[in-house]
Amino acid sequence: MMIPEYFGSMVFDDRVMKARLSADVYRSLRKTIDDGTKLDLSVANAVAAAMKDWAVEKGATHFTHWFQPMTGITAEKHDSFITPAPDGRVILEFSGKELIKGEPDASSFPSGGLRATFEARGYTAWDPTSYAFVKGKTLCIPTAFCSYGGEALDKKTPLLRSMEALNRQALRILRLFGNEDVRRVSTSVGPEQEYFLVDAELYRRRPDLIYTGRTLFGARPPKGQELDDHYFGTIKPRVAAYMEDLNQELWKLGILAKTEHNEVAPAQHELAPIYTTTNLATDHNQLTMEIMQTVAARHGLVCLLHEKPFAGVNGSGKHNNWSMSTDTGVNLLSPGETPHENAQFLLFLCAVIQAVDDYQDLLRTAVATAGNDHRLGANEAPPAVVSIFLGDELTAVLKSIESDAPYQGAERIRMKLGVPALPRFLRDTTDRNRTSPFAFTGNKFEFRMLGSSNSIACANIMLNSAVADTLRKFADRLEGAGDLDAALHTLIQDTIRDHKRIIFNGNGYDDAWLEEAARRGLANLRTTPDCVPCLLEKKNMEMLTGLKVYTQAELESRYEITMENYCKSVSIEALTMVDMARRDILPAVEAYAARVASSASVKKAADPELMCLYERDLVRRLSGLTDRIAGRTESLERLMAELQTESDVTVTAGRIRDEVLPSMSALRAAADEAETLTASDCWPYPTYGDLLFSVR
Ligand code: ADP
Ligand code: MG
Repeated sequence: MMIPEYFGSMVFDDRVMKARLSADVYRSLRKTIDDGTKLDLSVANAVAAAMKDWAVEKGATHFTHWFQPMTGITAEKHDSFITPAPDGRVILEFSGKELIKGEPDASSFPSGGLRATFEARGYTAWDPTSYAFVKGKTLCIPTAFCSYGGEALDKKTPLLRSMEALNRQALRILRLFGNEDVRRVSTSVGPEQEYFLVDAELYRRRPDLIYTGRTLFGARPPKGQELDDHYFGTIKPRVAAYMEDLNQELWKLGILAKTEHNEVAPAQHELAPIYTTTNLATDHNQLTMEIMQTVAARHGLVCLLHEKPFAGVNGSGKHNNWSMSTDTGVNLLSPGETPHENAQFLLFLCAVIQAVDDYQDLLRTAVATAGNDHRLGANEAPPAVVSIFLGDELTAVLKSIESDAPYQGAERIRMKLGVPALPRFLRDTTDRNRTSPFAFTGNKFEFRMLGSSNSIACANIMLNSAVADTLRKFADRLEGAGDLDAALHTLIQDTIRDHKRIIFNGNGYDDAWLEEAARRGLANLRTTPDCVPCLLEKKNMEMLTGLKVYTQAELESRYEITMENYCKSVSIEALTMVDMARRDILPAVEAYAARVASSASVKKAADPELMCLYERDLVRRLSGLTDRIAGRTESLERLMAELQTESDVTVTAGRIRDEVLPSMSALRAAADEAETLTASDCWPYPTYGDLLFSVR
């Protein structure tokens, strides 16, 4: 079958709705999707029945409200369509009520204290802006997940609220520019997803990969990524077969999988879809991550989405390409053709600059996980310091506006807002900067701090909100102005002057930048426990509650959950290390030392004169290492036992950062050294070399 024939075949999209719903029902549903008007029950019943018939034809037997709890992954509880009929048989049914609202027993999802246990039930509510789809034998209905008190227990609800906030404020700005046609401004995202593929057989022999998604031990192989021969390299046949299969599955679900290539590290790859509305892009990215894993299983592979599966080679991130556009098809981050359009472009650009400067801490926090901490600030991913790359030319344009001085570019023009057009380069920026956490790339910003396993919801909630907040301030100021052009000019000048510290076009991997960033007063929040407390800071709380993106209680719950998640992830890693060291690594090194010692005594029995220097030295070194491994295992275990009794999550997180992680590194260092001295047939685990180079 050709791609256009099966693309979206598993999605109850507009085309299917039109074909299967009566004109009246279709019109009501469309109104709900476009304007958020409430759907009445008779319409919901008609939609549900059509959806069910369609899904059953696609092989579905069950339906589920598909939602995104604060665990960061998706959740589903399947109910079959069957209903008993009077004659003892069954019929298949699906009502409007079941479509609109579900009541999963939600007591085991993290709520960070939002939902007391006596109020165990939350409810899920249909999000008609994201199409239903069939996955396997189940009709999946994208939903929001809330507590009975109405607090959001998921990532979708605040995301939708943040999009609404941005829409409201952006429309105010557009009206100031005399634009009366635009009815909606929405944000779009294209997330580039990185991942590793390893052989499933090898994976099954690594408890660390199974329990934590990353290797906790492993000596560096002789070859890593130093030759840069993997990036954009030829795709190996097994990987190519995987990608082909993956693309097909994604296309059937209407996901616009577009670009695929090998990444920098061996066994690392990337997939990018064509961008779409943020809400959909988020649902699609969650689905993509899930399907990457299920398709891998069919190919005898495992897809690793952890941010740092292997020490010594690059980790995996996710680039969040973000822009704002109108329902009339105008990208607000695209420089225009006329002075009027350019003034508007510069205003939106400045709004993003100020937003990122004012809320750098929130953007950092939006990507904070134990896994991503290993990546941010290592010499491969953007630093934990947030800054913006604009490119030299756009920076020069802003500078000339700030100082009312002539622009020193090719055309030497005075960059007042009234100039005929911005220089051509802005429309075909060729600037490429790979080290900036937040880069302007011609008509969009690319936020690069996200970890590969992060839900993109969090980053976009903060980004949308921060920009909405700045647009609100801008609109407040401009709406009261007598001479709009003059007010606009000073607003842009003021913004550049006050926020230019966040602009940095140099090499973000350079240590000198960290010093410079500190001088500029930019935050450098290196770990999750360092940054998450900012969720509860007054300026951030006021902004997020003021825009109605979060309530105070919801923010407090996010603080709890993020910290708890950090503690739990690292604790599982620590306990896995203890287990591996004690039950596999120590016995292996010990057995090998005994083998070497007995080989020395066999040799000595044959010839008492022999010195057996090699054996004696090796046994001494191995024995020293087993002592160290055993000692460090014990320290780590003791520390974990102590933390068990600590009930304050903030204290625990701090101790994990300051004590547990260093203790884990020390244990790993001793075990990795032992690996390099132990015969390969004695080592209990597949090596880095095996894991990174065996998929062909
Ligand atoms: P690169 O690796 O050079 O960053 P890719 O082609 O891998 O580029 O990814 C770019 C991503 O940006 C794609 O997902 C693309 O659809 C997306 N994108 C392009 N234009 C926009 C836009 N206006 N808004 C949001 N995303 C966009
Ligand atoms: Mg990119």
